[in-house]
Amino acid sequence: MNFDHIIIGAGSAGCVLAHRLVRAGRRVLLLEAGPTHEHPFVRMPAAFVRVIGTERSWDYASEPQPHANGRRMHVPQGRMLGGGSSLNAMVYIRGQAADYDSWRDAGCTGWGWSDVLPAFVRAESNERYAGPLHGRDGPLQVSEPRFRHPLSAAFVAAAQQAGLPANPDFNGTEQAGVGFYQSTTFRGERGSTAATYLAAVRRDERLAVRTGVHVRRILVEAGRAVGVEFTEAGQLQQVRCAQDVLLSAGALASPQLLMLSGIGPGEDLHKLGIPVHADSQGVGQNYQDHLEVSVYARTRRPISLLGQDQGLRALRHGLQWQLLRSGLLTSNVVESGGFVDTLGTGRPDVQFHVLPVLVGDVEREPLPGHGLSINPCFLRPQSRGTVSLRSPDPAHPILFDAGALRVQADVDTLVRGVKLARRILRAPALAEVVEHELLPGAEATLSDAQIEAHVRSHAKTVYHPAGTCRMGGDATSVVDTHLRVRGVAGLRVCDASVMPTLPSGNTNAPTIMLAERCAEFVLQAA
Ligand SMILES: Cc1cc2nc3c(=O)[nH]c(=O)nc-3n(C[C@H](O)[C@H](O)[C@H](O)COP(=O)(O)OP(=O)(O)OC[C@H]3O[C@@H](n4cnc5c(N)ncnc54)[C@H](O)[C@@H]3O)c2cc1C
Repeated sequence: MNFDHIIIGAGSAGCVLAHRLVRAGRRVLLLEAGPTHEHPFVRMPAAFVRVIGTERSWDYASEPQPHANGRRMHVPQGRMLGGGSSLNAMVYIRGQAADYDSWRDAGCTGWGWSDVLPAFVRAESNERYAGPLHGRDGPLQVSEPRFRHPLSAAFVAAAQQAGLPANPDFNGTEQAGVGFYQSTTFRGERGSTAATYLAAVRRDERLAVRTGVHVRRILVEAGRAVGVEFTEAGQLQQVRCAQDVLLSAGALASPQLLMLSGIGPGEDLHKLGIPVHADSQGVGQNYQDHLEVSVYARTRRPISLLGQDQGLRALRHGLQWQLLRSGLLTSNVVESGGFVDTLGTGRPDVQFHVLPVLVGDVEREPLPGHGLSINPCFLRPQSRGTVSLRSPDPAHPILFDAGALRVQADVDTLVRGVKLARRILRAPALAEVVEHELLPGAEATLSDAQIEAHVRSHAKTVYHPAGTCRMGGDATSVVDTHLRVRGVAGLRVCDASVMPTLPSGNTNAPTIMLAERCAEFVLQAA
């Protein structure tokens, strides 16, 4: 087939682009390095943790981080149809109107809240909410929780006892408050962009989807992107297209692919022997991520999720999900949380992700026994990191400095978040079920220095890497406000990498919004 477009990466953004372009009559080739999303642990919302570390995830590891006690940041990413939307915790959050207004004010003309809201609404099919802020018939299914764990409910009650307002809709007129998250699920199953957007066009003859295809570089001829080079089953191949190449490989792979293709800091590329097509200093700069730190507490009774994935209990949950699409396996685990303005600026600066179990991370096994984890995370980090190439070989891992906790203000935000989490832990609804706090410590009062030590030793990713191919109106930005790569024609980047700053919340819905808008730009350009 002759293709109009090649999309690199079938993740959150790539599947949205494929849907919109095919529906508009374009012939599209969608290339994905990983396998399909067809796996029971991908479909069952509560099982996603089991997918991390398999062939369906990438494990990116940063250089040791000096401001995080020399620890590496491990940042798993989705590697299958649907990308991150097939691996994520499905929390549906758009961010704050002021996030997008600040994009606009920083030079991203056309990206203020009133510009992006129609794309959020067009994408969405909300099970519960309607009105000017919500969509009812978009491809992306957004649902109310079908299962509410008692520990999640106890957090929501305790947070209100600690003085925070209840908020039934974090994507409504007000983000602040606590409650249960809506999730990108439908009928008790994960609603990734592969299961929604892509599934709707999968049989369209204008679309070709190829999995197990590792793109090595974009082919640039006379200043124009004309196709891509990739390996499939060990064979090196090339394919060309008539119109734009769309790069949607995610915030860690997209800058890598640009640099491998000769688009990036000219001197660095030259040193690696890569011919330079565009000297773009911003490629790989401006890396940002949301970090969180857990406050752990032991429960009096064995009521957490621990052990629910074993033996007869696992069988019972599996059968219930299989037959009725109800029960614990429909849970996105991160069921409850909220947004708090801890500094009194009028905008929440901390988000809580609450898990009804003691969670570990790539570095550490979970603490033993039953308990819960209250994870405050900062919403607008000031720290920045970088992504660059170690070598011109596409098979080599990137050189990745996460910049974790580099700016003291980010640490201070987490310290305030931890203090508030500890206060919520001691409010009656949780005090009733909690035996004692495990970390940062059981004492009623801890000094800021003690809490900061906990932050530096335990802060970890919320899996929201972004910013490495920054969009902007200025000449140093990597892409312009229509997501076109500066210096090379026929090439756009569309994924979380173009975000100039992180939105205040989870990044899947904002990435989908970006892709909705990118499809508009591509079609308008015709
Ligand atoms: C474990 C986890 C939990 C998360 N939880 C939430 C949550 O609850 N709510 C939320 O809103 N967000 C969450 N996120 C974040 C959200 O999912 C991401 O921000 C979003 O998926 C990013 O989309 P993207 O299109 O930028 O990249 P991705 O979705 O990562 O897509 C990139 C795709 O490109 C492919 N690719 C990469 N390199 C190549 C190559 N060389 N050749 C071919 N293909 C390639 C990848 O395999 C991948 O499929 C979570 C993420 C993770 C990993």
